[in-house]
This record gives sequence, C-alpha cells and structure tokens, in this order.
Amino acid sequence: MTVQSEPQQTNASKWLDAELRYDSGVYNKHQVVMVRGQGATVWDETGRAYIDCVAGYGVANIGHCHPDVVRAIREQAEKLLVMPQTLPNDKRAEFLSELVSVLPHGLDRVFLCNSGTEAMEAAKKFAITGTGRQRFVSMKRGFSGRSLGALAFTWEPKYREPFGDAVDNRNVDFISYGNIEELRAAVTDQTAAVIVEPVQGEGGVRPASPEFIQEARRITRERGALLILDEIQTGFCRTGKMFASEHFGVVPDGMTLAKAMAGGVPIGAFAMTGEVADRMPAGGHGTTFGGNPLAMAAGVAAIRAMRNEGMAEQAREKGAYFMERLRAIRSPKIREVRGLGLMIGVELKEKSAPYIAALEHEEGVLTLQATPLVVRFLPPVTISREQIDGVVAAFERVLERVNPRQVPAQEVREEKQTE
Ligand SMILES: *Cc1c(COP(=O)(O)O)cnc(C)c1O
Repeated sequence: MTVQSEPQQTNASKWLDAELRYDSGVYNKHQVVMVRGQGATVWDETGRAYIDCVAGYGVANIGHCHPDVVRAIREQAEKLLVMPQTLPNDKRAEFLSELVSVLPHGLDRVFLCNSGTEAMEAAKKFAITGTGRQRFVSMKRGFSGRSLGALAFTWEPKYREPFGDAVDNRNVDFISYGNIEELRAAVTDQTAAVIVEPVQGEGGVRPASPEFIQEARRITRERGALLILDEIQTGFCRTGKMFASEHFGVVPDGMTLAKAMAGGVPIGAFAMTGEVADRMPAGGHGTTFGGNPLAMAAGVAAIRAMRNEGMAEQAREKGAYFMERLRAIRSPKIREVRGLGLMIGVELKEKSAPYIAALEHEEGVLTLQATPLVVRFLPPVTISREQIDGVVAAFERVLERVNPRQVPAQEVREEKQTE
C-alpha cells in the first residue's frame, strides 16, 4: 500500500508538495513536515510540538540536537570535512579510541562505514574471510538491513520477494529466535557466523533470553564459527546498558553498530576481534565516506555525552518506569507489554496502525509500528518522566477512543518502512 496519491494536506505546504512529488515513492509519507527537534520533542512547520518516541528509528538516543554534538559538528565543519581512511586523521583516531573504550573487552578493531546496512555487509565479508567459511545462521523475524547482501539475513519475505533470486540466501539457515535446539542443529563446521539481534526490533520488540545468547556464544566457539551481535538498534544505551550484550554477560566476535553512535549523523561500524580483522586481505573492503571527520567529531561528542550523563542508567530507570506505567493500563485491547530499557513494544490484539495514527494526529505523540500488531516506543533517553506520563495517558485515551472500523483508510498506514 502506498500513499503516493495526490497530496491531500490540510495546511497547504510547498514542502510537503515537493517531497511527495519528487521522492522515489518507497516511503509511506505522513502528512506533516518536521522542521526542528530538541531533546525528546520535535516540531512541525506549523509550530505543533510532538513527543518523539520514534527518535529517527532509534537514532536520537541522547536527544535531538544534543548541544555537545551540535558544537562538535560546528567546530569540525570549519576544520576538515573529508579525509579518506588511507590518510589518518586526528578526529578518527579520537573516535576509534573512544569507541573501543566502551566496547566489550576484546573487540578492539573497527571497520568504519555510514549505516547499519553497510555495517552488516562488512560483518558478512569479515566473517567469510575470518573463518574461511560461507554459511550463516540467521533468525526468523530478524532484520539486518536492505542491501542485497544484508537482505539475505532478513527473514520477512516482503522485504526480499520483489528482488527474486538476486537476494541469494541459499547459504543462510533461519532458525526460531530463542530456540536452543534449532540453534544447536543449525551451527556446523561449515558455519561462518551466527547473526542475532539481542532484542529483535523490527520483529516485534522481542528481547532474547540470556540462555539463548549464552548458548549461541558457547556453540559458535565450540564449532569454530563467529557470534555476531547486531547491536545497530540496541547499542548505545537504548536497552539500559551501553550494549545489550552486557545484559547477557556475553562478548561476541563481532558487533554491528550504527543508528545512535554519532548522535544523529550517519555512521556505521563493524567492531571485531583482532583475529577476525587480521584475516581480511588488505584492500578487501572499503568505503569513501566511512570515518569522515564530521561523523567522527559527532561520534566522539555523542559517546562522551552518553558516559558523562549516565545515559545507560537513565534508559534503565526510565524504561522500567515506562513499562510499569504501560502495564498499569487496563485495556482489553492489550495482549502484552515487553521490552528492555527504552526499547518497548506493546502488542495489541488487533492491528496497531489506527492507534499509531491517532497518537500522531490527535495526541501529538510519534510512535512506530513493529509487525502489524505492535506499537513500538523508542524515545530519546533524555525523555522526562512528565513526557512519559503524557505518552502513557495519550495511549490510554486512544485505546479507549479509537474504533478501528471507523478510521478513514487513508489514515491507517501499514508502515512498509519502519527502519
Ligand atoms: C536499522 C537496523 C538495520 C539497518 O540499518 P540502516 O542504517 O537502516 O541501514 C539493521 N539491523 C537492525 C537491527 C536495525 O535496527
């Protein structure tokens, strides 16, 4: 379903008109133009404020336009914007040092790139050269990105089917997330890596059990495969720790990173052990924009802000409070509230889209869909308790008020692009 029809905005907006006219059409555009953000609040062009529980799909963990990140970008912009990775750069060196200092011990080599998908592509290539094997184990309901290589790890057929055999996943075995028996059966001496999200985001906000991740660690080590955690969405304080792997006491061989790492500036990374890194032939991978000084400066400021402001602790406390408040809602429409830290999903007994639309239009609260039944909340960690109370009260009202059969079809968007 696309909303690529003629724009029907109530506030005639030249911006909305131009965006709907010229965009490729792969996104379901909302009828609004966002112009500004601060902390957990964003404003549209009419000046209306929204509490933002989308946060750029879990990018703005330290809040929109964090002052330290803004200052770092401004200062770096006057010094140097681009420098390829063959030429060492002061900001890149600073960022790598800062990143490695927060990564689990042992992950001290980093391939820098510009997005989560690119991080996953890098992981795939480094896993192949690192083990001399080419088979992978990935998870049902898993999401790994949109390139043809990353799509091969992505379970949901709707993302893959339009591209037919060009998505080659013949070397990928999909197992049920959390099923230890299937995991043991799938990992063999042909397996290069097991790829797993510590909490499935797109797949409905499902935290893994510690036993599953711990067994994945044990079995991969035993059979000479790598354990690669996709921390693109869970990393950088989202779940109440700097990285979700810390909840499980597991150190993987590789970790894919992106989203919140540079406070809102595009960035991606594959962090790995020296053993894995050393087996990639020189020139075996690369990217023009990876490690650019602008993203590096933003990343240094963002990671320092996470540390200085105790963002992991904040996410843990606020996430517990948020989930407690959501669980207190007495509504027959709620099946389950689940999550880890400030990565929260509410599974309904019916489609979530009408409630997400009502939250935006009638309550000024932005939320995300994750599978057709789940309302997903990924607010900035800087969200206040008052804002959390406001979101919960708004959610309670729409659960009470919205009758899915009365919502005009155009308002009920099935998000086909949620991250
Ligand atoms: C967002 C996401 C990706 C893809 O990252 P992009 O930056 O959109 O390419 C991959 N894996 C997970 C778990 C994600 O949340």
